[in-house]
Amino acid sequence: MKAMTDGHIHNVIIIGSGPAGLTAALYTGRANLGPIVFEGLQPGGQLTITTDIENYPGFEHGIMGPALMDTMRKQAQRFGADCRFKIVEKVDFCSSPFKIFVDGEIYLTKSVIIATGASAKLLGLPSETEYMGYGVSACATCDGFFFKNQRIVVIGGGDTAMEEANYLTKFGKEVVIVHRRNEFRASKIMLERAQKNPKIKFLTNTVLVEVLGVTTEMGAKKVTGALFKNLETGETFVHECEGIFLGIGHQPNTGIFEGQIDLEPNGYIKTKKSSTETNVPGVFACGDAQDHVYRQAITAAGTGCMAAIDAERYLESQED
Ligand code: NDP
Repeated sequence: MKAMTDGHIHNVIIIGSGPAGLTAALYTGRANLGPIVFEGLQPGGQLTITTDIENYPGFEHGIMGPALMDTMRKQAQRFGADCRFKIVEKVDFCSSPFKIFVDGEIYLTKSVIIATGASAKLLGLPSETEYMGYGVSACATCDGFFFKNQRIVVIGGGDTAMEEANYLTKFGKEVVIVHRRNEFRASKIMLERAQKNPKIKFLTNTVLVEVLGVTTEMGAKKVTGALFKNLETGETFVHECEGIFLGIGHQPNTGIFEGQIDLEPNGYIKTKKSSTETNVPGVFACGDAQDHVYRQAITAAGTGCMAAIDAERYLESQED
């Protein structure tokens, strides 16, 4: 059966509903462009899996991640953003209007804002999922503060692991970097900084086998340690700690754009300097799908705003 369109050529379709997508929706809504937001698998994005957000300006006492995203969505909807809990399966940017394939339908649009974000890579252990948010985290800047004077483990041997470990020494009384090899993928400067930090220790040729924890009398879960395996000797051993941070990298959610727009070798979307323009005129990218350097809610919101302004100017130029 041939897919149907909804009979409109939309001004702008936003793919993704984290801080970048919803800020783009707010701005394009206020510009009377009637944006549709396809929210994707995880409406609200990565912040919906964090707890307290204390570094988003405007909230003196912090705000819960899901509450912040809910407020952002309602603010965008107030200006006409049409948020739909749907997943974009495919895009076709070969000619304008662009085609967005959703649930057996094709939506036609003059411009697209990609805000599909990134996902932290996980090890895939059941205990890692069980204790996520209760001592296991994939974001030091989000959760480091909760580990004051505690014992922390960081898994990974790249720049993310080094950066997170250094950052976490501000809070924890010790930080142990656990890496599966003896050589590090991290840049020399980041590795040396970690090696010189007196609070950081290294465990190499070692992998996490299981997160250990308990359920308190109040019914809350907490991490008490990690079961590690030394890959050289095959020995397993328990390491006591309260926090386990995964620093094994992020994966931008850009699979559906392969072959449609230019991507960096690591999968992030290429944008022009000081702009959110991709190599396809009319297609813009913002947030963590495009930024692998800052990756903060506030920077994602900032680039979402930029993408909305870029899209608005693009649409005006097309009318001229
Ligand atoms: P990387 O891919 O560079 O490193 C990931 C690390 O995690 C590697 O050491 C890898 O081990 C390890 N790892 C991956 N999967 C597993 C697994 N299943 N089990 C155990 N260990 C695993 O990712 P990063 O996020 O560190 O960096 C991504 C990019 O971002 C890089 O280009 C980096 O330079 C950049 N970046 C820059 C920063 C800065 O300049 N301030 C900060 C953070 C990132 P192995 O080496 O054995 O494959």
